[in-house]
Amino acid sequence: MEKRTFLKTGIFMGIAAATTSFLEACKTVDKNPPSTVAPTLPPPKLRRTTPFTLPPLGYDVAALEPHIDKMTMEIHHGKHHNAYVNNLNDAVKDTVYAEYELEDIIARISTSDTDKKIRNNGGGHWNHSFFWKTIVPDGGNAPSANLAAAINATFGSQDKFKEQFSNAAKSVFGSGWAWLCVGKDKKLFVSSTPNQDNPLMLNVSKQPGTPILGLDVWEHAYYLKYQNKRPDYITAFYNLINWKVVSERFEKAGG
Ligand code: MN
Repeated sequence: MEKRTFLKTGIFMGIAAATTSFLEACKTVDKNPPSTVAPTLPPPKLRRTTPFTLPPLGYDVAALEPHIDKMTMEIHHGKHHNAYVNNLNDAVKDTVYAEYELEDIIARISTSDTDKKIRNNGGGHWNHSFFWKTIVPDGGNAPSANLAAAINATFGSQDKFKEQFSNAAKSVFGSGWAWLCVGKDKKLFVSSTPNQDNPLMLNVSKQPGTPILGLDVWEHAYYLKYQNKRPDYITAFYNLINWKVVSERFEKAGG
């Protein structure tokens, strides 16, 4: 080998080795992202120009009887959800979130004390808007073939999924939510969050993901009818799930 060729080859191999170790390092970082560091998000696309408003239920307050009673729905939607909307409008005034759409706020909210009111009420508004669409008067039909296959693959069977989801909902200590989500790896997982947190809060959630099904287990969601019997409320929920909407969310999340 000529000296010049030898040098060129040597330099090339050096660069190749450095590149390989750099790529390996990237892979390692990607495989184990620090849970406390959120991914860099693109700037918000939409600028909101009107206040947040209470979305309509889409069905009558009495339509979920006997599983969820009329008075619970009146208070839950008309008072509790409405309060989250009003408090959120108040909380975002004069902040960086003032013109953000709800999804952009949720993705960026931090655990700091200054963000607390926006986190609680932004989560409250998002979670309830999501929940009203998750349940439907003539619910309890079946998931799509794709979602049913994914549920079977992840949990073993539809019944095993229900068992895991119910356990997550029962295990929330105090107030919070149980979720079925699509993870970054496009696989399903069950989780729960305290208070009004949700898996879309990248800086807050221990297990970020895209929720496709959620159950409110705050006492205000069931206490009038079920009192301390949260498991009975969870069982009743399965009669109300709008699997058509949940299946559409699953497809949209790339699951
Ligand atoms: Mn609620």
